[in-house]
Amino acid sequence: MQTPPTVAVSPGRSTRIAIPALFGYRAVMETIVTVFAHPDDEAAGMGGTLWLLKDQVRIVLLCLTRGERGLRPTAERGELEIGKLREGELRETARLLGADVRFLGPTDGEVYAHREICEDVASILRAEEPTAVFTIWPIDVHPDHRAAASIARRAMQLSRCTAELWMAEMGLSQTAQFDPDICVDISSVVEEKNRLIRCHACQNTDDRLVTQTALLNRLRGAKAGVTAAEAFKAPLTRLAGRVSLFDRLPCFAPPQA
Ligand SMILES: [Zn+2]
Repeated sequence: MQTPPTVAVSPGRSTRIAIPALFGYRAVMETIVTVFAHPDDEAAGMGGTLWLLKDQVRIVLLCLTRGERGLRPTAERGELEIGKLREGELRETARLLGADVRFLGPTDGEVYAHREICEDVASILRAEEPTAVFTIWPIDVHPDHRAAASIARRAMQLSRCTAELWMAEMGLSQTAQFDPDICVDISSVVEEKNRLIRCHACQNTDDRLVTQTALLNRLRGAKAGVTAAEAFKAPLTRLAGRVSLFDRLPCFAPPQA
């Protein structure tokens, strides 16, 4: 297939834009990539932001595991079946977002930032050429979450990916030492975010994941007097004047702690 023309949209970066069929090109949107550890991380951590972006960018959800150990195994349902169940739940989330989803090889609870997985993610980044990468804030009680953050950063280095990198928080009882750089006002899409979380039904008994996530989002929103917000942190200093994905979203800078 021919490569669509490239048009500079901001200093130092470019993106492929949609070209009408008149010219025989497939329409190509700007791409963002998420690197999370388990099905449900994407919805709980940044489902509102993904919903706000879904018609503006192409979303690729990388999931390092199938969450095989997210339920207690039984004689009838082992880790393989649990993984299939949770894979289906993430695929439904992706369908609602119009996103592509890719699963990597590690097993739930055994994610390590070794060379092979970093190279696998790097090859996806090379192919997708994202303008933004999202992953998990690395100070987290779950070792898979910590590894996801490490893999994302190492893969960006290996692939020479110059996308902006943002890290999401996973929950009040999981993320630690998280002092956000930016918050997205998701007040207008709270119900849509809850819909994404409820796709992960096996992790949402008694609507607990929705309730826990809503509490966190309300706390973040309260800092700016909005109903709900998702918070992100940049591991690197933002470059002054650089155009950010967040420039197109309803954002606020949280008060410094
Ligand atoms: Zn997780």
